[in-house]
Amino acid sequence: MNAVDAPNATNATNAGRREHGESLVVVGNGMAAIRLVEELVRREAQLRITVIGDEPGTAYNRILLSAVLEGSHPATELRLKDEAWYAENGVELISGTRVRLIDRDARVVRLADGRTVPYDRLVLAIGSAAALPPIRGLVTSGGDLSPNVHAFRSMADCLGLLNALPGARRAVVIGGGLLGLQVARALGVRGLEVDVVEAAPHLLASHIGETAGAVLRRSVEELGCEVHSETRAVKLTDEGLLLDTGYLLRADLFVLTAGARPATSLAKAAGLFVRRGVVVDQTLTTVTDPRIHAIGDCAEYRGRTSGFVSPAWEQAGVLAARLCGDQDRYEGSRVVARLRASDLEVAVLGDPEHATGDVVEVANPIRGSYRKLVVRDGVIEAAVLLGDLSRIGLLTQLYDRRTVLGEGEPGQLLFGERPAGEGSVLLPDDVEVCACAGVSAGRIRACADVAEVVGTTRATTGCGGCAGTIRLLLAANNTLPTQAATAGQ
Ligand SMILES: Cc1cc2nc3c(=O)[nH]c(=O)nc-3n(C[C@H](O)[C@H](O)[C@H](O)COP(=O)(O)OP(=O)(O)OC[C@H]3O[C@@H](n4cnc5c(N)ncnc54)[C@H](O)[C@@H]3O)c2cc1C
Repeated sequence: MNAVDAPNATNATNAGRREHGESLVVVGNGMAAIRLVEELVRREAQLRITVIGDEPGTAYNRILLSAVLEGSHPATELRLKDEAWYAENGVELISGTRVRLIDRDARVVRLADGRTVPYDRLVLAIGSAAALPPIRGLVTSGGDLSPNVHAFRSMADCLGLLNALPGARRAVVIGGGLLGLQVARALGVRGLEVDVVEAAPHLLASHIGETAGAVLRRSVEELGCEVHSETRAVKLTDEGLLLDTGYLLRADLFVLTAGARPATSLAKAAGLFVRRGVVVDQTLTTVTDPRIHAIGDCAEYRGRTSGFVSPAWEQAGVLAARLCGDQDRYEGSRVVARLRASDLEVAVLGDPEHATGDVVEVANPIRGSYRKLVVRDGVIEAAVLLGDLSRIGLLTQLYDRRTVLGEGEPGQLLFGERPAGEGSVLLPDDVEVCACAGVSAGRIRACADVAEVVGTTRATTGCGGCAGTIRLLLAANNTLPTQAATAGQ
């Protein structure tokens, strides 16, 4: 049966459904998919759009899951769209069921519930899946995670972990990357004692070097987490988690944050060319089949997969433009990653561990701050900021625009302590404040309040790392006339 005529095929009605144009099927209803569909709706694309997601309900902001775990954001506010939005915009939503197979000859996708959906064009936006480290006892003989082991990638994972919190006193987080630190900090805020196990010599090893790792470890330990680095967990037993040092970590729950892999099995089974991700060209079309595209975490462009929301959104924008007949091309993204965790300020621009160039570095372990720039031919190739993100707006702008710096500028950018009042109100209008949605300080200043910012620019709806700066900019908007009035009295 075709999804379009199946009686219970969709959670949305067909009220606003476009009757003409090619049929576009989007597999996955995550952060890349919803941005693509939003753009297509905004552009009034002449396409019959069907979105198929295996998670229940509508798309939600995955990157705020750690804020939900921490308790700083209600789970009920994560949804990016409600069902009515899909229906009103003529988008058919099939949720809670998985695409099991792509039949490229018949040009249909087959769903786990037995339905078949035809396509003229197909977009894979299926994200990534948690990597399972080789630890004995992690998985039951039935293939499920052991009862006290939790992944942390989906709303269901997050709610499952929240349900396990009452009565729990100790947790072990397996993996000390960005996600692991967010989870560790969230559990700490919830009052648990937390151990972080990291196989690499230091935390955040794929983003920062040893010196920064030492500064970060100190900050994390000051917040009450114990860090076990250069150590592998080898076995989970009823007693606890055994490390290769022979140390046993007893805990009530264990959270897996040891990396993620692009979801590729669907593409592989369909005969699409896959390396780490589904390989696409500048048009975000698979190099195997001109009718199939891939965006977001599952896509690989020029040998790179991303794992961050801003490239996923950039790709979604380019693909939407192309599906509407424009000639946009994807040139790759410059990634700015920020840690979302209370009292831990971390930002990484680009790939500081692999970028080549002159390194300018300032570390102050006493204040928990560390700053590093990698500069080549005067241009910032990568950067790390720990403990003080007051310069992040300016650095991101210089980095994004590949501005050529004068000889003394890299040093000036790094030295000196945090400017009073975070310096946000002093940001020039063209400085990018929200890296996820590409929004400048000027556009924020043009808004009256946070609601207008969200509605007109989408700033704060990604990683949310810009929220503090935006509040300061808006507050400055409101106080400036008052100050002027006072001055005139
Ligand atoms: C807890 C957490 C915190 C994060 N924090 C940040 C952050 O602060 N900053 C940042 O930039 N990035 C962050 N990320 C990464 C960011 O969420 C991803 O880069 C982004 O979601 C990628 O979008 P996507 O659409 O490619 O994948 P996803 O948002 O993961 O969506 C993919 C969807 O496809 C579904 N799917 C998979 N297979 C199928 C199938 N066969 N059939 C149907 N549906 C399928 C999945 O279940 C999922 O719903 C975080 C990720 C997590 C898990």
